[in-house]
Amino acid sequence: MKKNNLIMVIIVLIITVATIIFIKEPASNENNEKNIKQPDQNKKVEVVKGVSNYTYSNLQKQISQLDEQYTQVQVTTFGQSIQNRKLYLLKLGSGEKKLAVIGGVHGRESITSLLILKLIEEYSKEQEIASYNLTKLLDDVTFYFVPMLNPDGIEIAVNGVADGAKNKEFYLKANEGSTDFKRWKTNARGVDLNKQFPADWEGVASTEASHFESYKGSGPVTEAESKALFELTKKEDFDLVVCFHHSGNVIFWYYNQKGEQYQRDYELAKRISNINGYKVVPPEDSDQVAAGYKDWFIKEFKKPGFTIEIEEEKTEQPLPAYNIEKYLAENKKVLLELATYLANN
Ligand SMILES: [Zn+2]
Repeated sequence: MKKNNLIMVIIVLIITVATIIFIKEPASNENNEKNIKQPDQNKKVEVVKGVSNYTYSNLQKQISQLDEQYTQVQVTTFGQSIQNRKLYLLKLGSGEKKLAVIGGVHGRESITSLLILKLIEEYSKEQEIASYNLTKLLDDVTFYFVPMLNPDGIEIAVNGVADGAKNKEFYLKANEGSTDFKRWKTNARGVDLNKQFPADWEGVASTEASHFESYKGSGPVTEAESKALFELTKKEDFDLVVCFHHSGNVIFWYYNQKGEQYQRDYELAKRISNINGYKVVPPEDSDQVAAGYKDWFIKEFKKPGFTIEIEEEKTEQPLPAYNIEKYLAENKKVLLELATYLANN
C-alpha cells in the first residue's frame, strides 16, 4: 500500500510538472506573438513577392495565396491558352462600373503580370491609398484583372524551348534560327496577340508566317487567347480598359477618336500622366492602323482605352523584377484615378 501511494504521488508530480511546462511554453509564445502583431492587426502578410523570370507557375501560386488571404478577391477563368494553361480573371469590387486591366500579353513582358498581382494585393490590403477611399470606390466600380493573357509565350521567353521538345523546329524557324528565346513576344503559335483584334486588321503590317514578334495571324481573333479576351469584353461590356506593356514610360490613348470622345480620352491620358509621370503619346506618333486590344476597344465601343508602357527602355528581356516596387508606386493611383472618373460619370 505504502509503495503504491509513493508511485501515485510521483506520477501525479510528473504530470503536474509536465503540464505546467507544456502550458507555459505555448502561452508565452502566444503572448509574444500578440505583442508583435498588436500595432497593426489588420495588416496581412505580403504574398505577392517580386520574382524575376515570372511565369505561369509563379502566377498560379500567388493567385492561390491571394485567394486564401483575401475573401473579397474573386478568382475565375475565362478560357485556356493553346497549350491548355488557364486564362485567369480576378475580380475586385461590387460596383456597376467595370474597369478592365490586362497584362502579360507579350511573352517577354511577364513583369506586367507581376505588377497586376501587386496591384490586386495593394487594393485588397488597404482601405485608403492617398486621398482615394478604396472601400467607397469598390462600391461603385468593379475591377476585372486579367494578369496573364499569354502564359504560353511567357513560358517560351522565360524558359526557352528544350532540345527534343515537340515542334522545336517550328520555334527555331519563328525565332530566325536563334536558340535564345528571351525576346519571344508572340503566343505558342507565333502570333502577336496585340495585332489580333478587328480594328483595321487587314491593313496592319506583318510577316507572312509565325514569328517571334511580327506575325498578326491568318485573320483577326484566330488565337485561343485573343478570342477569349474578345468574347469576355463583349460579354462584360467594360466601361474602360487599361493594358500594361513594356517599355517606354509612355501612355497610348489615341485611335482616330474625334470631337468629344477625343477630348475626354486626351484629358484622361493627361490625368494618368500627372500621376505616373509617363509621356502622353501625341496622335501623330500613334498608329492610325493597328489591331491592338485598346485600338479595337476605342473603335468598337467608343469608350476610353489605354496602353501604359512601363520602364524606360528594353534593357533586359524579360525585364527583371528589381524595380517592381517603383512600377507599383507609379501606377497604383492611376487605376484609382480612372475608377474615380468612372464613379463620377
Ligand atoms: Zn507588349
